[in-house]
Amino acid sequence: MRTVFRDITILSPEIGSDSGWQVIERGYVVVEGSEISAVASGDLPAEIDAERVIDGRGKVLLPGFVNLHSHAPMTLLRGLGEDLPLERWLTEKIFPAEERLSADDYYWGSLLAIAEMLLSGTTCFFDMYMGVDQIAQAVLESGIRANLARGFLGDLESAKERLAEAVSLYNRYHGAGEGRLSFLLAPHGTYTCTPDLLRHTAELAGELGVGIHIHLSEAQTENQTVLARYGKTPTQILAETGLLEQPLLAAHGVHLSDQDIELLAEAGAVVAHCPASNMKLASGVARLDALRQAGVRVGIGTDGAASNNKLDMYEELRLAGYLQKVSTGNPESVPAGYLLQRAINPVPEGFGLLAPVGCIEPGYQADLQVVDFGKAHLQPVHDYVSNLVYAAKGSDVELVMVAGKVLVDGGELTTIDQEKLFAEVNKRSAKFRV
Ligand SMILES: [Zn+2]
Repeated sequence: MRTVFRDITILSPEIGSDSGWQVIERGYVVVEGSEISAVASGDLPAEIDAERVIDGRGKVLLPGFVNLHSHAPMTLLRGLGEDLPLERWLTEKIFPAEERLSADDYYWGSLLAIAEMLLSGTTCFFDMYMGVDQIAQAVLESGIRANLARGFLGDLESAKERLAEAVSLYNRYHGAGEGRLSFLLAPHGTYTCTPDLLRHTAELAGELGVGIHIHLSEAQTENQTVLARYGKTPTQILAETGLLEQPLLAAHGVHLSDQDIELLAEAGAVVAHCPASNMKLASGVARLDALRQAGVRVGIGTDGAASNNKLDMYEELRLAGYLQKVSTGNPESVPAGYLLQRAINPVPEGFGLLAPVGCIEPGYQADLQVVDFGKAHLQPVHDYVSNLVYAAKGSDVELVMVAGKVLVDGGELTTIDQEKLFAEVNKRSAKFRV
């Protein structure tokens, strides 16, 4: 199958820069199968024919977003237990509700998350949760790309079954969906897993050749717990247990010392910044400037829908920028081009994904979004990047493609029956209201 975008504005991250963007004001992109095969400015040559030609006048084509930290099935818990501190939110609302999640709930909750993400331009997500068989099924059916992980915690003994499940998931699904589905190992955090379990996880990751997805220094109380227990910071525990020697994705990274940041930089770890969740749970403000200056790669995540409460990366981008500016008192902090790159290109090539994404160049996967700029809030255009980061909304996304397949067309889902989906999630929601 060949698809062509013509007469469209093309935005692609500048290779070798963490904030630059290449803009082709009017050009064309050819997609062959799952990959981009040609990109150029000007008119579409007459000799190029295609099964589908998409007219891009007034529209902008850019790579899809990678949501770097999520818990997909938690969409079913959206709006439960608002305005509570983290500890009470978890123990009084979230944990009891999670105990009521059935296998089918995981599936429908994930499908709702995927629908919401696709409709707002996200083409890939990194997730850790339970019910991963059902999440995988929703990923494979919908056509989105994902890196999944079965979360586990406790000590070596109590985590045994979940670890075995994580290995079995890897064996059954890693590379499924023509390479769209991949896996990491996900110990929950340094305050919820014993050092022995973390050490074992590092060894297992080395054996399987996969990386780690973990929560890190999300709340001040987490740092205090780990410090009281071991006399070390959570990042020091990662170093001591060998986790920093594996490819590592650390979610949140709100309370990091200079030395922690140095350790993460030396290890080449990636931090998933989740501004909406950190603000809503009053966890604090991650030090993006310090991370950037130290050379730590940062991505952006929504976290679960229960603590956001949306999975819209446009919203997350804007919040990430505004939060840094107001907290540092420096409007030059995290420029728009940097933020947009973080939402699109969060991980180094080969980290957690089986094919290259995040760039509009031949050989990259055709994971793309088309934004309709024919909207009052996107006119005029002095700077495409600025309009995307500070003015665009998820609902401005008109078409989404993953691995060359159109999954959102004219703002409508092509692989998910939305009416049935909404009926299912509403039917299931009542039992969570405790
Ligand atoms: Zn999380």
